[in-house]
Amino acid sequence: MRYNLEAFKESKEIQTSLHSEFQLSLEDAYGSDLRVQGPISMTAELYRVEKEIVFYGKLSFTTTEHCTRCLDSMQVEFKTEFHAKIVVEDLMDDSEEYCLLYQDGELAIEELIQEVVRIEYPLQHICGLECKGLCPRCGVNLNHESCQCENDEIDPRLEKLKNLFK
Ligand SMILES: [Zn+2]
Ligand SMILES: [Zn+2]
Repeated sequence: MRYNLEAFKESKEIQTSLHSEFQLSLEDAYGSDLRVQGPISMTAELYRVEKEIVFYGKLSFTTTEHCTRCLDSMQVEFKTEFHAKIVVEDLMDDSEEYCLLYQDGELAIEELIQEVVRIEYPLQHICGLECKGLCPRCGVNLNHESCQCENDEIDPRLEKLKNLFK
């Protein structure tokens, strides 16, 4: 997927915007566990600043993940904002900003998104702040059912506390 920037570069405008929605598999960029549901949406404002183009982008999409604590399947609404300078390939340096891939007057949107996702997409997901996770002893999902394990074994630190309240 390419976005042609030549027209903007040649024009007198100092600002332009782009909005696109597309299907893109991110499994190659991030690993086989990243399952995107539906389209990826990107909007961006581009500003010409002297010889560079500054790119302010917003990226959003939905994925299916498993909660790190209880392993239940969950949907993640991923949203991120990023900015970058568009530079000609030979001039790229290792600045902390994303180096956008720009070749023959076109911006490589797919590669850009893969790079943003690789850096910004979280490794862990929790289904909710209230998630109780799995019982470490019997493995039941404590959000859905309870077990007897916690009654059998009392943390010695809690035991002391309990005595205080007698
Ligand atoms: Zn959970
Ligand atoms: Zn248990």
